[in-house]
Amino acid sequence: MVTYHFPGKVVLVTGSSRGMGAAILQAFGRAGATCLLNYVADPAGVNLHDAEQTAERIRQYQVPVHLLEADVSRYQSVAAMMQHVTDLTGGLDILVNNAGILRDRTVKKMTLDDWHSVIETNLDGVFYCSKLGAEVMRDGGRMVNIASVAGFAGFHGQANYAAAKAGVMALTKVLAKELARRGITVNAVAPGVIDTPMLAGLRPEVLEEYKRQIPVGRIGRPEDVAHAVLFLASEESSYITGQTLPITGGWF
Ligand code: NAP
Repeated sequence: MVTYHFPGKVVLVTGSSRGMGAAILQAFGRAGATCLLNYVADPAGVNLHDAEQTAERIRQYQVPVHLLEADVSRYQSVAAMMQHVTDLTGGLDILVNNAGILRDRTVKKMTLDDWHSVIETNLDGVFYCSKLGAEVMRDGGRMVNIASVAGFAGFHGQANYAAAKAGVMALTKVLAKELARRGITVNAVAPGVIDTPMLAGLRPEVLEEYKRQIPVGRIGRPEDVAHAVLFLASEESSYITGQTLPITGGWF
């Protein structure tokens, strides 16, 4: 296994209370980074509970972990989070734009709320965090955006999600050009089917059908994505920017 070291680096992963974001932040914690865990508050406090559990797991690596509440789909909320980042740590070295939601329906049945909520979280959120994150990021930093193979393939029932993820890939290319002079690289990964709570609604037979179609013969693990993100956040990837790396087990 390749071992990365990020001591002294400050990493913010949006939507890192659970799922892929939690696995990515945990991998950075294992590699010695100061971890900033972002979650969205909900009335029942479920997300805060998940966030605290993830933070506890990361603290076993003896690294600082801070919880930052913010809704990435709201500009002022992101601005407050970035101010909090500066107050806590003085600046950011690595930003992983991971937060995302699904509201799948055919275009015919898709409501305006289905459309806007996914675009606002999955695309506007990446724009807000990148724009404001770049202001607090130190030169030589890294941005990694979590796109999706849906942005290439355009799956049935995912007009909102596929459009947002294709937008993230395009935004990645533009940001890479604009931030290169500061030594900041901006890349994306495009996962296929990864075992996280996002798949909870899928019927077992649908998952079996995915497994049948994926050449390596299994659903991806959050750690499969985390390994690629750590590489793109490392010094060793400094000549790679503006790219989107599919992580699909050979699917698509
Ligand atoms: P997940 O388990 O549903 O996690 C999504 C995370 O996003 C949660 O931590 C959630 O936070 C957070 N989030 C949602 N809306 C937010 C907002 N407005 N502000 C801040 N955080 C917000 O899904 P996942 O599978 O880990 O997905 C992570 C990323 O991977 C997403 O961008 C998704 O599109 C992408 N992806 C997933 C797959 C897959 O097969 N799982 C494939 C391709 C791409 P709370 O828990 O606090 O609500």
